Amino acid sequence: MHLETFELHQPTHLEDALAVASSHPGEFDYLAGGTDLLPNYKMRLNPRAHLIALGGIPELHTFAPADGTFGALATLRQLETEEAVARDYPGLVEAARQVATPLVRASATVGGNLLVETRCFFFNQSPSWREALGYCLKAEGDRCHVVPQKERCYATFSGDLAPSLVVSGAQVDLLSPEGTRTLPLEELYDGRGDGIHRTTLLPGEILVRVRLPREARGRPSTYRKLRVRPAFDFPELGVAASLALEGRRVRSLRLAVGGLETRPRSFASLTDPLEGENLTDERIADLARRVQAAVRPVHNTFLAPDYRKRMTEVFVRRALTDLKEAS
Ligand SMILES: Cc1cc2nc3c(=O)[nH]c(=O)nc-3n(C[C@H](O)[C@H](O)[C@H](O)COP(=O)(O)OP(=O)(O)OC[C@H]3O[C@@H](n4cnc5c(N)ncnc54)[C@H](O)[C@@H]3O)c2cc1C
Ligand code: SF4
Repeated sequence: MHLETFELHQPTHLEDALAVASSHPGEFDYLAGGTDLLPNYKMRLNPRAHLIALGGIPELHTFAPADGTFGALATLRQLETEEAVARDYPGLVEAARQVATPLVRASATVGGNLLVETRCFFFNQSPSWREALGYCLKAEGDRCHVVPQKERCYATFSGDLAPSLVVSGAQVDLLSPEGTRTLPLEELYDGRGDGIHRTTLLPGEILVRVRLPREARGRPSTYRKLRVRPAFDFPELGVAASLALEGRRVRSLRLAVGGLETRPRSFASLTDPLEGENLTDERIADLARRVQAAVRPVHNTFLAPDYRKRMTEVFVRRALTDLKEAS
């Protein structure tokens, strides 16, 4: 399939990118590596008339693992090949290595991964396939084929990096015509749980960088991914965990999942009460069951929701058992 024509803008300063965005409200997309956006454009999934390429803006290319700072345009290849990242943030590197293929990871960026379009079996299809079904809420239609109603889209958040960054306590720096602001990464995602309005970004807002706190450096962490074809598929489930023990007692424990709902999700209300406790196998099994009970996948990816839910319990249990044994 070929791309429809669009106007390409190539600013070299953040302010210029914002100015172009302001002059085309609702008619543009930012372009990073393009590995998600351009295939979607080819499938006619909400293409826009203006593309604002961010690649010429130097600030966005920052790559400073020693400071825990990654510009939005740091590539996944940089993450997976830099020794300091593997040493300090092992779960993040495990996640990056499981995204797509080496060729895609050479162009794919951290920012693009955090803002990757939500996915659904009824959306990620060719125009003729979707037309035959009467389209859907997320593109050109007025109803949902997954949960029959006309208000909400249940498309699944399928980025691999977000859960790992969430368990590391990442923050994101954002820039819009209103100014700069910083959010905990989890708050970048829309709490209303809608697969169309998937982020809390303001109109035209740019994700500038991701920052990891000092205390996350060196903390044991891991990422488990369930997918149909291990060679390159998006996650049907992604489980990230980080664990710091003092003796046998929990100093810090964090869990987050992706690939199940419209946004990545963490479980502080389940994990915080374990701080200071002895992390026994029974406690791990109980926590894994509670996480399984809390998640709500729907039937819009290849693997059945019941199976993804059951595997959530298995992956949480295995991830925490492995981290505990390695500590
Ligand atoms: C074959 C194949 C397999 C894939 N498998 C996976 C997978 O297993 N896991 C996975 O997570 N992804 C997968 N992807 C999707 C994609 O490659 C990655 O998510 C990638 O990291 C996206 O980054 P990008 O720079 O290419 O983003 P782009 O495609 O350039 O952008 C993605 C979205 O983010 C927005 N955006 C990008 N940067 C910014 C910014 N700084 N500020 C504001 N908005 C911004 C864009 O407007 C767009 O909406 C796959 C893609 C392909 C083609
Ligand atoms: S969940 Fe419903 S509205 Fe959203 S993409 Fe799928 S079919 Fe469309």
